[in-house]
Amino acid sequence: MRVLLVEDDTMIGESLRDALRGQGLAADWVRDGRAADAALASERFDAVLLDLGLPGRDGLEVLRALRARGDTTPVIVVTARDALPDRVRGLDTGADDYLVKPFELDELLARLRALVRRHGGRAHSVLGVADLQLDPATREVTRGGRPVLLSAREFAVLQALLERPGAIVSRARLEDRLYGWGEELESNAISVYMHQLRKKLGDDLLHTVRGLGYYAGPAKDGAR
Ligand code: CA
Repeated sequence: MRVLLVEDDTMIGESLRDALRGQGLAADWVRDGRAADAALASERFDAVLLDLGLPGRDGLEVLRALRARGDTTPVIVVTARDALPDRVRGLDTGADDYLVKPFELDELLARLRALVRRHGGRAHSVLGVADLQLDPATREVTRGGRPVLLSAREFAVLQALLERPGAIVSRARLEDRLYGWGEELESNAISVYMHQLRKKLGDDLLHTVRGLGYYAGPAKDGAR
């Protein structure tokens, strides 16, 4: 999951970014409304965490512009404790949910998962193909009912593939899911994670389509 974090407070922004990355999410952090506009116009995110009080261009304006472009990316608005009118305006402007500062990280993560799940139109939170299952809520992966331990990044790659079983996901798209801006990655990182995933889960459900990307599911022609 790739999240855009819009927050002008350095301490809050830094700790949220680190916490999200610690959960294996790709978190990009911008500190003002114009940078948020630019990021949202040029990149694709699974969710936006939007502070309303921002220098330059405030959060509501960013949200209004996003929706005016027909962009339905899920947005959680972050407001101060006593700012009920802000919350109402946020929801009226097209926010999907809101959080009141200060909030617990666990609550933020649960709301992010719920939002992305609803947005993706999936009623059930557990993803899977054949006897391979991944639960984004508990972060459990099982194959044939047997739990498999994955690193945060292996988990993120597998989740991206299982969100659309059978669909080819490009390496660039997987890299997007793993890394925020400014984080260096080895050019072969995704191949390495795929190799590790096949070692842990078996090589019958995870496939490479040369030059195109990867998919999860029963093998199709031309894949290996
Ligand atoms: Ca602020």
